[in-house]
Amino acid sequence: MHVLLIKAKTWFRKLAIARVRMAHVPKSSLLRLGLALLIALLLLGWPHPLPASLAQTSTAVADPSTEAPLRVATRVLPPFVMQQGKDLSGFSIDLWRSLADEMGVKSTFEVYPNVTKLLEAVGANKADLGIAAISINAEREQKFDFSQPIFSGGLQIMVLDPRLGGATANPLKSIFTSTLPKLLGWALLMVAIVTHIVWLVERQHAEAMISKHYFPGIFEAAWWAALGLLGQAEQMPKGPLARAIALFWMVASVGFIAYFTAVFTTVLTVQQLQGDIQGISDLAGRTVATTTGSTASEFLRQNRINVVEFQTIDSVYGALLNRQAEAVVFDSGVLSYYATHDGRNQVQIVGDIFKPEDYGIVVPIGSPLGKQIDVALLKLKENGTYQALYDQFFTPTD
Ligand code: GLU
Repeated sequence: MHVLLIKAKTWFRKLAIARVRMAHVPKSSLLRLGLALLIALLLLGWPHPLPASLAQTSTAVADPSTEAPLRVATRVLPPFVMQQGKDLSGFSIDLWRSLADEMGVKSTFEVYPNVTKLLEAVGANKADLGIAAISINAEREQKFDFSQPIFSGGLQIMVLDPRLGGATANPLKSIFTSTLPKLLGWALLMVAIVTHIVWLVERQHAEAMISKHYFPGIFEAAWWAALGLLGQAEQMPKGPLARAIALFWMVASVGFIAYFTAVFTTVLTVQQLQGDIQGISDLAGRTVATTTGSTASEFLRQNRINVVEFQTIDSVYGALLNRQAEAVVFDSGVLSYYATHDGRNQVQIVGDIFKPEDYGIVVPIGSPLGKQIDVALLKLKENGTYQALYDQFFTPTD
């Protein structure tokens, strides 16, 4: 619906421009008659969609400036930029189209293979501006001008779904880092206490099941207590006090075994669902895939994590799926889109954004376009167009 609204607005603006321009055309000119006819047609509503040849004519009337269309550098990165054949779509593409309409400029897109090449093109004035999923950072801000943020996100980690038996699953590590060792420690302490009490009270009995002497009596008591905890004690103490303790110990062992089994099962289940990459600290010594020249790649290098770079994001995903890489580090918006679309049930995003980043539109330093883009962007934010576009691409559907 909002797309129709935007289109209608554009037509009306073009009409207004055409009217102003008509004031300068000689009164008697035939051209003016032609223009009037065209405006009348536009007001009555041109059949939709416009045939390509007529669309050309109407644009020429609305914006007959001889200025060349703006060259917009971009790069494919769903859902910001998507390419089907020669057609481009996506959040950044649609946003630019709305901005260009708002600014009353024509433009053509040029697709670059990676963000470094895109930025080089803008820097070398081969492009007038760049829009894709370009993160604003200090280093880039020194060489380029950026618009106001067009999207807020940040770096996140994605792994293969551990249920697919990814290379990340390591049950032993999960067990050792869980509460199980602590639980075993408590059990050992209890065994030691019960061992000593039983030895002390049982040794006095004439037919005691254990020796009177500390050695080997204490070992015999420990063996009995350990087996008792597992519900396997063969003998029973002979003294009445020791028997009371034995009874308590048997009941406690039932509780202990039940609790231990529950914790053990939970640890293994959680491990199967999560894998053992939970955050950035788990990436040390692993191979991580990302795109060439990205801020993610820079982050990984700075943190001495092995990185494999690919030009296209599809190759990055491919490396994860065929286990060439154990994780992907990239922009949250891009990863979430993949995890809920093509990568559904195959990949998993782990942890929160660990490095926030904003995207901007990049222009050469000092370009007057920067200001114009900001004004248009703020207008789109104020009139709801930006939000409608955002919702179209980023509001979860399920
Ligand atoms: N946000 C990333 C960057 O600006 C995108 C990288 C890419 O386009 O591959 O570095």
